[in-house]
Amino acid sequence: MQRISDKLKAAGKSIGLVPTMGYLHKGHLSLIKKSKSKCNITVVSIFVNPTQFAPNEDLSKYPRDIKRDKKILTAAGVDYLFYPEADEIYPSGFQTHVEVENITKILEGEFRPSHFRGVTTIVAILFNAVMPHYAFFGQKDAQQAAVIKRMMQDLKITLKLIVCPIVREKDGLALSSRNVYLSEKERKDALVLNKSLRHAEQLVKEGERVVKKIISEMKKIIFSVDTSNLDYIGIVNAESFEPVKTISSKSSYYILIACKIGTTRLIDNILLKI
Ligand code: AMP
Repeated sequence: MQRISDKLKAAGKSIGLVPTMGYLHKGHLSLIKKSKSKCNITVVSIFVNPTQFAPNEDLSKYPRDIKRDKKILTAAGVDYLFYPEADEIYPSGFQTHVEVENITKILEGEFRPSHFRGVTTIVAILFNAVMPHYAFFGQKDAQQAAVIKRMMQDLKITLKLIVCPIVREKDGLALSSRNVYLSEKERKDALVLNKSLRHAEQLVKEGERVVKKIISEMKKIIFSVDTSNLDYIGIVNAESFEPVKTISSKSSYYILIACKIGTTRLIDNILLKI
């Protein structure tokens, strides 16, 4: 991959990287589209990164279908697929990790303590493998994007990171490879994530500024279905990712939610611009 990138760069081509874990959907395709609009060459990586899954999580059953993914990538006009084996990325003797400190301790980090260390490590490796000019990530994983931004600032990684909006199903459910785990009833129940976010947005529009009140209203919607099991709802400043107690008119905020529906853990968020 490095040799290919070197050649492309020597020929004056700009390279965009879209890192994924595969089982591609329209959310991934929106990142690919953005990359193709900005860069001469688009590289998609597919790697179900073992170090970002805790032992009790869904690494072994994470959906995979490389044949289908390859077809999708060809149809989308992607130039290169980078599809490494786990032991190529983490050969025996591997002992280096990238760890971003404070911002990884809250929200996802509280419920998945080793997750972001795995994410930043693999993203740093992918950046070094592909050496892109641009990398494209989804707002769907807003905290992940913020953690990667922090890593890039701190490690002086100068490629440009572009965060693309969340792609949703018609009824509002955020697209996710994990949605295939949902039963028919759970698929309906899963709408409470988006509904609670929309309700919060409406409350803020109507003038509510107290985070506790907004969250307690959101919880009513979440707990209106019997399959939900909430991990967290958080409201953070969109720039610093610091949790806030009140909303002020000068800033932008993320409202973030992680909730199990049955046994499937889903995340969603909205960006509030006041
Ligand atoms: P994943 O394969 O789930 O690790 O996701 C790969 C990239 O696609 C990440 O940057 C995600 O944030 C992004 N992504 C996943 N779902 C969506 C979505 N519904 N809309 C936009 N981007 C998404």
